[in-house]
Amino acid sequence: MSHPTPREGTSVIALARRLVVKVGSSLVTDEGRGIDHAAVARWVQQIAGLHALGKEVILVSSGAIAEGVKRLGFSRRPSEVPLLQAAAAVGQMGLAQAYETAFSARGRNCAQILLTHADLANRRRYLNARSALLTLLAHHVVPVINENDTVVTDEIKVGDNDTLGALVTNLVEADALIILTDQSGLYSADPRKDPQATLIRDARADDPALAAMAGGAGSAIGKGGMLTKVLAARRAAQSGAHTVIASGREPDVLLRLAAGESIGSCLHAGSGKLAARKQWMTDHLQVAGRVSVDDGAARRLREGGASLLPVGVTEVAGEFERGDVIAVVDQQGREVARGLSNYAAAEARLIRRAPTSQIESILGFMEQPELIHRDNMVLMQAQQA
Ligand code: GLU
Repeated sequence: MSHPTPREGTSVIALARRLVVKVGSSLVTDEGRGIDHAAVARWVQQIAGLHALGKEVILVSSGAIAEGVKRLGFSRRPSEVPLLQAAAAVGQMGLAQAYETAFSARGRNCAQILLTHADLANRRRYLNARSALLTLLAHHVVPVINENDTVVTDEIKVGDNDTLGALVTNLVEADALIILTDQSGLYSADPRKDPQATLIRDARADDPALAAMAGGAGSAIGKGGMLTKVLAARRAAQSGAHTVIASGREPDVLLRLAAGESIGSCLHAGSGKLAARKQWMTDHLQVAGRVSVDDGAARRLREGGASLLPVGVTEVAGEFERGDVIAVVDQQGREVARGLSNYAAAEARLIRRAPTSQIESILGFMEQPELIHRDNMVLMQAQQA
């Protein structure tokens, strides 16, 4: 899908055909007091309005844990993982029920999709999830997505729904991501501390100054602060999608954005767009392993065009199989690139530092002369803060 490129200052949402809308816990659950059914009905009404304009919409909704905490009678959000998993499982029922009721009242179908990091990291599962979502959109269904918090632990979590929204945006190549929150958008400084802070109306999503402006502020209920939103926008820009961060408290915010009004902060994608498979690699939040490379190899990769040969590898960490995505780091530990390994970790350990001519005698076979072929590799500088 080709993305429309609007002039700065115009609403990118008016031009977008496929949209991912993320609503945070505090907007769906009435500041932690359980699901706010009236608010859910308003979101659904607006999404039906977007549909009527011919737009496809995917909703990423938080709120399961907040609702579960209420249903289980906990006095506050627990910190123990099993209790959080239980709350998510209980609360997700309420969330699904609320959306189902509201969408069917408008004569629309919605579908629940609970994703994990592993669903997106495995290429086959990723493509499966993509085709399921595209099929739902083709049938005018609104997919309602959340992280499957019940079956994941901290180490393997996406962790926040801003990031999940960006991953889904890339998965379906949406034109735009709308992150609705309880603040008006991104400010030049924390508006609660600095009276001079001004709202950033338009910026490039990859502008490194944004992360510094976003600090680390977050509300008590949701998971992601402004920094996760800025990083989500940068991630979404990799597939060419623009991001709008706006207040969910603005009446009819989605419909007004679709009508061309400029609300909140618009973080524009540049013209560069990674090829789908390379973008999938950069969207891995965790990789199976990493190899350290010497300065010469790091330079040849950075200057572009080179494959990674075993001779340039100084160290191999982690356990990975042939075909897994691994990170390539320089001697300072900075991630230079990532790509699909032609060898398993145990083999890579045996052939590190070896010239190509010796690979076969060391292993008894040679899959390929490269550890990572340049066609299966993506440089990572752009992703670093
Ligand atoms: N998945 C979590 C929930 O539904 C929320 C994560 C977030 O708000 O970022 O409660």
